[in-house]
Formats: sequence, C-alpha cells, structure tokens
Amino acid sequence: MDKILEIDNLVTAYQGKEGFVKAVDGVSFDLNRGDTICIVGESGSGKSVTAMSIMRLVEFENGKIREGTIKFNGEDLAKKSNEEMRKIRGSRISMIFQEPLTALNPVFTVGKQITEAILFHYPIGKKEAWRRAEEMIRLVGLSDPKARLKQYPHELSGGMRQRVMIAIALASEPELLIADEPTTALDVTIEAQILELLRSLRRERNMSIMLITHDIGVAAEMADRIIIMYAGKIMEISDTQDLFDQPLHPYSKGLLDSVPRMDGERGVPLNSIEGSIPRLNEVPDGCRFSPRCPFATEKCHEEMPPLEFRGTRQVACWHVDQLLENDSLSNDRKG
Ligand code: ATP
Ligand code: MG
Repeated sequence: MDKILEIDNLVTAYQGKEGFVKAVDGVSFDLNRGDTICIVGESGSGKSVTAMSIMRLVEFENGKIREGTIKFNGEDLAKKSNEEMRKIRGSRISMIFQEPLTALNPVFTVGKQITEAILFHYPIGKKEAWRRAEEMIRLVGLSDPKARLKQYPHELSGGMRQRVMIAIALASEPELLIADEPTTALDVTIEAQILELLRSLRRERNMSIMLITHDIGVAAEMADRIIIMYAGKIMEISDTQDLFDQPLHPYSKGLLDSVPRMDGERGVPLNSIEGSIPRLNEVPDGCRFSPRCPFATEKCHEEMPPLEFRGTRQVACWHVDQLLENDSLSNDRKG
C-alpha cells in the first residue's frame, strides 16, 4: 500500500512551568494515501501535539521534537529546515482548526483571504484567482459565491466560517489535510454537513485526511482506521469496523461504552470511564491507563506494555489475551 505518512517513535516535549514533559511519547503510525485516519482520545491525550508536530508548529510554542521520524512521501519532515517547512505547510499539507473565527483575519473579506491563499501557491493573475475563489466557495457548499466573497468573517455563521477555512486549506490542493476537531464548535446539523463535505472532497480529490476528534462517533463515520491515544501514548490502532466489533484495549472499550447508542434502550445511563487523564508531570509508572483500568494488575502498574501487532491491528495491553478470552466466554453464554 502506498503510504503518504509514516511516523516512527515520535517524541515531542515541552519545557513548561512544571518542568520538561513529553506530550507525545513514542508514537508510531502510518497513513495510506487516500485514506482517512482518526485520532481519538480524551482532552490532553496528545492529539493536537501530534498534528502540530507533523506541521512542525510545536517549535513556535516552546515545544520540541526530541526523537523520531515523520516521513511525508518518504521525506523526513523532522529534519527539514524552517524554510523548507514553510513551503510544505499550507501547500502540500494543510491544517484546519477548531475555531474558524480566530484563524480568519477579521479585517479582510473572505474573498481577499481565499485569493491570497490561491495567489500564494499559483503564478496566476488576480482576476483568475477571484474566479478560482468563487469555484472554491461553490466547492465547499456555500451559495451565492460572489456575495460571500465580499463578506467579512463576522458576517458569517460558524458553519460558514468553517467552510471558508476549508476552502482556504484546499486552495493549494494539498495531498494531506489535517483537521483538528473541525466541528467541535458547531451544532450537530452543521457538523454532519461539514463531515459530509470532507468525505466528498476526499472522494473527489483522493486527498488523505488525518482527523482529530474526541468523539468516537465522528471517527466511526469518517475513518478507515482509528488511533486511540491516551496521555501521550497510542493504546490501540485498528480498522474502524474491527474496533467497533471488538475493542482490544480496555481504554478503547471504555470510550465505546460511553457512546450513546441509537439502537440502545432509552434511559440507560452512559457509562463513562471513571477518573481522569493524568497530568503530564504526574504520569504513572507502568501503563498510563492503569490507575483507571478495571483489569489492571501489579505488572500494569510497573511496566508500560509495548504497542504490539494483532493481525492488522496494534494494541498496548498486557491482558489482551485474557480480555479476548473473557469476551468470547461471555458471548458463548449469551448465545
Ligand atoms: P484536546 O482534546 O483538549 O484538544 P489534545 O489531545 O489535543 O486535547 P494536546 O493539546 O495535544 O491534547 O496536549 C497534550 C498535552 O501537552 C497536554 O497535557 C498539554 O498540557 C501539553 N501541552 C500542549 N501544548 C503545550 C505547550 N505549548 N506548553 C506546554 N504544554 C503543552
Ligand atoms: Mg487538541
């Protein structure tokens, strides 16, 4: 399979008030060209830092990539100069963020911002850039492009602004789009529309997508493959269907159990995972999830399990065999 992204043993650390902390600690995964991969995990698990490391934006906020390689089309981004990264960022790899109002410039019209993005990447005239901007506006599903282009960001709704951000991100026809919680600030109807837009763009442009979300339901709809992250480490990587059929890691299971099911009985309370994610300067020895894990044993508290292959999947848990056995026993009993 053709891989657009191969990340191996990425370690990204911050020098903060509380000392030196690893926000991403030994993360490895691949993304196949044309696929969508989702990174899922609770707040503080290192999802954004992973994305900001790929974009090499961590160094602008006192972070540093300490170890590992980030191969994009076979070239290690971790070794690129700032100048080289400037050329890749926003052109071959684009990123969209959660809050489109802060990312858009309030003093310029939508048209100016989209055409600038286009002119930055293509040696064309202004007129042609405006024509393309209209096309982009149409592509992201906004009506009346001419009128839209004349508006300022504050004149648009949140959903419209996010579409404008997507238009800007797509202006360079990136091979990889990184979307960090692009729909969190939007209501559910608009969220569904934006996700559908991303799906159709991916189909039409064979774009690879890395989508970050804390919502495993969103991941279920969007992803070919899902990465479950917790406190800077990957706990499980699975094809989407496999994960939902049978999560291998207790944390994955906890996340799945906390999702309200459409087919479930009404009034049944959601199970949420007890406890909270550790602060980075207080990560436990051993498995980082062990203080919250119902299956944890002494070994779990002492030694972090490596991320190991199980067929096409990967999981980091000392008790995966036992959990699978329990699962099949209880399924046998059920039927
Ligand atoms: P959320 O769902 O809330 O966006 P996340 O999974 O994206 O969470 P990250 O933003 O990647 O989490 O943060 C991971 C850890 O890295 C956090 O504990 C955070 O405190 C730390 N961190 C992130 N940015 C910085 C920074 N600029 N300086 C110091 N620590 C940071
Ligand atoms: Mg984040």
